[in-house]
Amino acid sequence: EKTESTDSKDTIKFGTNAEFPPFEYVTQDGVIGEFDGIDIAIAKDIAEENGMEAQIENMEFDSLIVALQNGQVDAVIAGMTVTDERAEAVDFSTPYYTATQVMVVKDDSDITKASDMEGKKICVIQGYTGETCVKDLGYDYEAFKKGTEAIMELVNDKCDVVVIDSATAQKYVADNDGLKIVEDNDAFDSEEYAIAVQKGNTELLDKINTAIEKLISDGKVSEYAAKYTDA
Ligand code: GLN
Repeated sequence: EKTESTDSKDTIKFGTNAEFPPFEYVTQDGVIGEFDGIDIAIAKDIAEENGMEAQIENMEFDSLIVALQNGQVDAVIAGMTVTDERAEAVDFSTPYYTATQVMVVKDDSDITKASDMEGKKICVIQGYTGETCVKDLGYDYEAFKKGTEAIMELVNDKCDVVVIDSATAQKYVADNDGLKIVEDNDAFDSEEYAIAVQKGNTELLDKINTAIEKLISDGKVSEYAAKYTDA
């Protein structure tokens, strides 16, 4: 008789950095190592669509691409923006979310556009596209490992502005009194989030793309975006 254990289900190991609400974060309910967010929901659905299970590996954002290249994870889902530089190192799926960089400032800030950041104390998160944007604008900045650390600098008046992705900025503004978002669509281009796989891993990329395209057309991705943005 053939026995089949449920443990034998194939897994897709997704690397993420659970410091990026509403896309991925460690749940607040005291369960250690439990992750939730838009990307986590998408990762689980992608695995399920393929009769597989999603396993989430949490690591620093800066380590994700290396972990993928080393085969430590099969895919990266981390609100990761498609950039030319990254596309040289990994293959990207069909994009599933459009974002942009924004400036988070104190309510009484006189910053109304990106050029107002000149001469101000700017905080970014290391390795995020926000760091590249500020670097490209030619301004000095301080880089932090976590978004929450940069936001705490702002809350404590140790910096004037944090440049970070729009949806994550909204979360931080909702969770901390006295902060607001300043947009500058002339200075910051829109960005597309996509899932990364090892270069040439077309087998997994096809599985991911078929599933993500279905999740987009079914309205699932929008549903998750709305759910976790309001959470
Ligand atoms: N979208 C930004 C980037 O790709 C930030 C992603 C993240 O922190 N998870 O760099």
